[in-house]
Amino acid sequence: MTYPDSLGGDLTALDSLLRGPLDGLFGGIHILPPFPSSGDRGFAPLTYGEIDPRFGSWVDVEHIAERHDVLLDLMVNHISRRSVEFEDFLQLGRRSRYADLFITVDKVWPSGDPPADDVAKIFLRKPDSPLSAVTISASGETERVWTSFGTREWSEQIDLDVTSTKTRTLITGWLRSFAGHGARIVRLDAVGYVIKKAGTSCFMVEPEIYGFLDWIIGVADSLGLVVLPEVHDRYATHEALAARGYWTYDFVLPGLVLHALETRSAGHLADHLARSPERQFTMLDCHDGIPVRPDLDGILAPRELLRLADLVKRQGGNVNRILSEAHADGDVDVHQLNCTYYSALNCDDDRYVAARAIQLFARGIPQVYYVGLLAGENDHQAVAESGDGRSINRHDYTLSEVEFAIRRPVVQRVLDLVRLRNIEPAFLGRLDVTTVDPATLRLTWTLGADACELEVDLRSGRAAIARRHDGIEHRITA
Ligand code: BGC
Repeated sequence: MTYPDSLGGDLTALDSLLRGPLDGLFGGIHILPPFPSSGDRGFAPLTYGEIDPRFGSWVDVEHIAERHDVLLDLMVNHISRRSVEFEDFLQLGRRSRYADLFITVDKVWPSGDPPADDVAKIFLRKPDSPLSAVTISASGETERVWTSFGTREWSEQIDLDVTSTKTRTLITGWLRSFAGHGARIVRLDAVGYVIKKAGTSCFMVEPEIYGFLDWIIGVADSLGLVVLPEVHDRYATHEALAARGYWTYDFVLPGLVLHALETRSAGHLADHLARSPERQFTMLDCHDGIPVRPDLDGILAPRELLRLADLVKRQGGNVNRILSEAHADGDVDVHQLNCTYYSALNCDDDRYVAARAIQLFARGIPQVYYVGLLAGENDHQAVAESGDGRSINRHDYTLSEVEFAIRRPVVQRVLDLVRLRNIEPAFLGRLDVTTVDPATLRLTWTLGADACELEVDLRSGRAAIARRHDGIEHRITA
């Protein structure tokens, strides 16, 4: 998983790394939004028609897709404030042919005036309220439109009305274009926010959210695309998604691995690994922070969540806060923790390699974020320059920095683990999770006479691997 410009500066450089030093390591590549965008590092797309020329073109994506499953983000919840569609709305208001793409306040509250109680229930990602006032040039009138993301003063991302036929036609066209350019997997960015309904949290609103997911999966499926919904919610929501046969993300794993290595206790992590589904993508890190709330609610106690936050702050990380009081109970006002995973583990090579080994031995498709792959440390300068706390884990590597990082022993150890995961037949079999003692986690994959076993001693942070083929055992230190 990488930004289009963070491994060498553009898609050509990325492709050269994938054909060079990273050859044969990754089945898929998640290219974070490479489209022209007016903010949020790609997540405020102006159009999907072209790739931002600073990164390359669709031809580069097609080239990468020749040898990899390309995963692209579709920002189903919103579009740029500066998109042709919203600019036309700003000009003409309700007379714009694009007006129905957006959510004017009266679509949710016909009176045009949301009761304070209703606003208090909303799961906010922007302070106070999700509504932004805009002035229509032609009439001078004010319209209030839904904007899930932004600051109190400004939202660069304008929410789309996914219930409107016009929006669905637009989304269908975007998906057709993705498939036409060789993409295989589509991540539905922030899809939990798409349904807005008075009197609800406006987040994962049932049953409407499933109606939308079924519709978009149907369209994607007809185009040969796999859909990966991005939902940060309590684990029960992931269980519900998995029960319906959808792919999900394991957003619990990063926090639990950190917790296990910090407290030297395997219990919570082992319980989680034992029950997690096959149809999931795992991660330890990504361009956002380590998920805390609501992802870990009900899994770790509030004091344990605060312990994770303290740990990350001690390593120089920062906290992305919850904005809705209703979702910050137990005095834990933490949405995500911004820190590289390597820094969170105090740059301890053994513990870091053990963390990656646990991820690579978990069920599902392991997704490795580029900073994590290169065992990168917190980038404080990037935070200062961008003003976004998440930039701490978004370092842009030059090609020579990548080549230097790959030679580091810790990175070589991670690459060896990735290779093992790719070639070992036992990973196609069954996973058993046990705790040898409260501080020792054992993950065993078995397929016929083949077995591959990871044992992590959480006290020392060391990981050992045993492989068995036809009765012969090989032991390696990860
Ligand atoms: C993405 C974030 C982004 C947000 C709005 C998310 O869940 O991962 O990086 O800021 O959606 O698009």
